[in-house]
Amino acid sequence: MFISFVIPSYNEEGNIHTMMKALSETMALGGYPYEVLFVDDGSDDKTMDEIRDAIIDYPEVEYISFTRNFGKEAAILAGLEYAKGDAVILMDADLQHPPELIPQLIRGYEEGYDQVIAKRNRKGDSPIRSLLSRAYYWGVNKTIDVELHDGEGDFRLLSRRAVDSLLQLSEGNRFSKGLYSWIGLEQKTISYENVTRQHGETKWSFKQLLNYAVDGIVSFNTKPLRLCFYAGLFSLFLAISYIAISLVGIIRNGVDVPGYFTIISAVLFLGGVQLLSLGIIGEYVGRIYNETKKRPHYLVRRTSAAVKGKPVTHA
Ligand code: UDP
Ligand code: MG
Repeated sequence: MFISFVIPSYNEEGNIHTMMKALSETMALGGYPYEVLFVDDGSDDKTMDEIRDAIIDYPEVEYISFTRNFGKEAAILAGLEYAKGDAVILMDADLQHPPELIPQLIRGYEEGYDQVIAKRNRKGDSPIRSLLSRAYYWGVNKTIDVELHDGEGDFRLLSRRAVDSLLQLSEGNRFSKGLYSWIGLEQKTISYENVTRQHGETKWSFKQLLNYAVDGIVSFNTKPLRLCFYAGLFSLFLAISYIAISLVGIIRNGVDVPGYFTIISAVLFLGGVQLLSLGIIGEYVGRIYNETKKRPHYLVRRTSAAVKGKPVTHA
């Protein structure tokens, strides 16, 4: 069994060597052949130099380097496309995914699971962030067709079958968490304590997290559009009832002057519903626009010798 590690790396200077040391120590115990595929996502620090240095010490190291920063999803996709292994282990470069779990992941694979998922708890996260994520997962699982689990991210082992299944999903806007769940297959989960980042800082700002949250909902179904439809129907019903009641009143008692409050509330309420609905429709239209452009997910600047020439399977 040949194992590929796929490690998306964006400005991970200071982490590459520690990461390789930890990986090679762990892998020396198991005796499986492996490659470590770093995907340099357009880093503008010394990450790429460190990867090239690592090749001298560790012949298992391979790399793909992007022409600019395309984001973690693109980096993972590239890694999956280029990985040669019978099993692929996805890991972050920042040592937040403890290498000690690797033997357990591999054991899960040997037991016949196609996805062995490492699930972290939220120790060390701010209470607000934990609360928001809990609310988010609750809400999202009520709306979308696939199930997402808090703490189950990209740290996982995928069998060749799982990798090939993921590569068949060719959407431009990739929301991996949902895709892993969408392909199904035999899954096993292993829990671990959350680790806080040692070097560098997280690349996720609050705004990016918010966008990621919207992606999660909109990428997986069209239920929000249905929600707009019902909201519209509901406000239309309210408006018709109001008009009918007022009409009866006018016929009975003549025209009544005040009405400022009702007008303003109707305008604001309907305006709100319409803007929200337009926004939701816009999300989908935007996605259709992006899909029709059929742009590649990433562009490769350079790769290490062994991965050179491998065709990109996706456009
Ligand atoms: N990453 C990437 N491209 C990006 C942002 C992040 O390849 O545009 C990589 C990063 O180098 C790391 C992993 O994705 O290996 C997770 O990123 P980070 O630690 O910033 O996220 P967090 O752990 O805070 O969720
Ligand atoms: Mg991290």
